[in-house]
Amino acid sequence: MLELSTPVQYVKGIGPRVAEILAAKGLRTVDDLLHYLPFRYEDRLNPRSVAELRAGEMATVIAEVRNSGLFRTRRMPIFQLTVGQGRNRLKCLWFNATYLQGKFQAGQMVALYGKVEADRDGALQIIQPQFEILGDIYEEGGADEAEEKAAASLEIGRIVPIYESAGQGKLTPRWFRRVIRTALDNLTPDLPDPIPAAVRAHLSLVSPREALWKVHWPDAGESFADLQSSRTPAHIRLIFDELFFIELGLELKRREQKAQTGVAFEINDRVREAIKKILPFHPTGAQKRVLKDIADDMQKAFPMRRLLQGDVGSGKTIVAFQAAIIAIENGYQVALMAPTEILAQQHYFSARQILEKAGYKIVLLTGSLEQDRKRDIRRHIAQGNAQLVIGTHALIQESVEFEKLGLVIVDEQHRFGVMQRLKLMRKEGDRVGRAPSSSETSQRTGGQKCPPHTSLGEPDVLVMTATPIPRTLALTLYGDLDVSVIDELPPGRTPVVTRSLEDERAPEVWDFVGKQVKAGHQAYVVYPVIEENEDRELKAAQQMFRQLRDRIFPSLHVGLLHGRLDPDEKEHVMREFQKGELDILVATTVIEVGVDVPNATVMVIEHADRFGLAQLHQLRGRIGRGAAKSYCVLMHGGKMTEEGQRRLQAMVDNSDGFKIAELDLELRGPGEFFGTKQAGIPSFRVANIIRDRQLLEAAKLEAAFVVNGPNADISQEEITRALKHMRERWALSYGLVEVG
Ligand code: ADP
Ligand code: MG
Repeated sequence: MLELSTPVQYVKGIGPRVAEILAAKGLRTVDDLLHYLPFRYEDRLNPRSVAELRAGEMATVIAEVRNSGLFRTRRMPIFQLTVGQGRNRLKCLWFNATYLQGKFQAGQMVALYGKVEADRDGALQIIQPQFEILGDIYEEGGADEAEEKAAASLEIGRIVPIYESAGQGKLTPRWFRRVIRTALDNLTPDLPDPIPAAVRAHLSLVSPREALWKVHWPDAGESFADLQSSRTPAHIRLIFDELFFIELGLELKRREQKAQTGVAFEINDRVREAIKKILPFHPTGAQKRVLKDIADDMQKAFPMRRLLQGDVGSGKTIVAFQAAIIAIENGYQVALMAPTEILAQQHYFSARQILEKAGYKIVLLTGSLEQDRKRDIRRHIAQGNAQLVIGTHALIQESVEFEKLGLVIVDEQHRFGVMQRLKLMRKEGDRVGRAPSSSETSQRTGGQKCPPHTSLGEPDVLVMTATPIPRTLALTLYGDLDVSVIDELPPGRTPVVTRSLEDERAPEVWDFVGKQVKAGHQAYVVYPVIEENEDRELKAAQQMFRQLRDRIFPSLHVGLLHGRLDPDEKEHVMREFQKGELDILVATTVIEVGVDVPNATVMVIEHADRFGLAQLHQLRGRIGRGAAKSYCVLMHGGKMTEEGQRRLQAMVDNSDGFKIAELDLELRGPGEFFGTKQAGIPSFRVANIIRDRQLLEAAKLEAAFVVNGPNADISQEEITRALKHMRERWALSYGLVEVG
């Protein structure tokens, strides 16, 4: 008998070499193997007879090989296969397929799947069909005849699962079919169901055993459409499992957070007055609403864990400052952490403009400060003299002790990944803690055990993200946070006009930039790389800076900003641009983050097709911040990948950040969404959070019910089992969030 946890080598037909191939695909246990789902199904119960095929349909055909061979045309070799049923024939063609030579023998039965078309003479054919020769199987050690027969019975007369092959085609769909069938046949009859019975009943979930069988071997009567779209009860059960345990983990994390002792800030008339006094403008309805969410959290006795989402330019900063005032007026310190030094500086400027005149003490702690100065500032912070501390994440996290830290604001953006966020959450209790901090880590283990020498609670945490995160991702990645959204831009913004243009129109573009500058505005010109040698095909910021400054705009002030400048220089350039001393800023994506110069009205992005959608949206968010009309020009060489083209079109067609984020998620998939190969994003075995949105929502509801509900129907034993299952799975698959 096989258990789910049994290593795959123990399944008949899998030797050590094959086990290695499977391991490379992440399939190590029987459980993994059984969750290797078919990506489509073929209806070989009712295959189409050749006589009844119609041009235009997708069809599965089972027929006998008549003849095959390669013929060469002037353009390429083409492999032709003719199959037949009685007197009816069907032609199949594969282009450039020399590798098919000798593959088929007359008399063999083959299953073919593809789109039926009519050739020039009206005869039916299938171009490049997927095919299977019925009856040849790879096995280490070879298969005997009885096994061949049994395997063949899995090939026809039923709905057949089609798997992605592995090991450079060595492990074919047929191979998987047979091995998975063997695993199912030998699977222990008693599979515990980790989903609590009440949840199961509520959603009418089928048992794990039934789900695993039917997802591979559907009943003859199963809806074909449901199968192809992963919507059969079997699919739903397996997908729900995966999503449920993720949501359960996040829900538990929330509960754990709520059990900790936080700071219950008091909001009285004096505090309210202080919050209002600093406002340089009337807040939007959305800003008021999210501030209320935050203020409500801050008054509670457990620590706030809130995510503030708002498109670029939606006005998150002022809300953050207002939250800061609540903490400061209660006698606490606030840390505001930015992902880059430039952004930290920017926040510092705004904070001084808005908060300093109200008498608040603000310090900026950046890596580029001199040692003495840094030491001074740290002392100020440790003694509680600095009320608002602004710096980069690294700096504040690593080396600062606060006297009385009450609120941490993290200005995050899409690059700043989930893992960093989790690290921060773990650290704030100890290192970004109050002084003395080293001995207090025990406090993390539970709310009841308050350290004896302090009555301070865990600081509140507000995470701000400039990239709107589609709800599906927010649910999986930030599900342990409460979410507020600013879904309204401040008044008086005119939408940015966006155009996608080929490089040959550059002269017109520069001409336009010149005119905008004459009208008193400023412009950004962005490049994907700093130096030409990084990628020979791409224009680079450094070279183009010289050309723009010396040749194209000799009478204008042109500056250069990129990540390799030293921090002083960066700050200097940024400040010059902010003050209007520079007309044009040539830059790399360093400016993507939070830079705010309302007088800038033009953003030219060269090689725009090389940027991700989220990045383009962030870049464009740098303009359209003032009252004047703004323009974003996406330049490209004309030859683009289809995806590149779609990205640019999406930018031209959309200005709503949420919409763009959704499109981005669809184009790139969740793994890439937060920037290339960002660690810490769960990769799913069977779920697809774009396709399975609704199941995700359901999983969240059910998980919340299990964790927080009156759970009369869910026994402690079931909960324990669910948790155990989750820990095992997560340790294996995700390693994302620590639970319990
Ligand atoms: P983001 O959400 O991208 O951080 P900011 O907080 O930088 O946006 O705000 C963008 C700009 O809009 C800033 O110049 C800010 O002063 C201005 N702003 C924010 N809220 C309002 C408002 N309610 N009315 C007018 N201007 C506002
Ligand atoms: Mg901002």
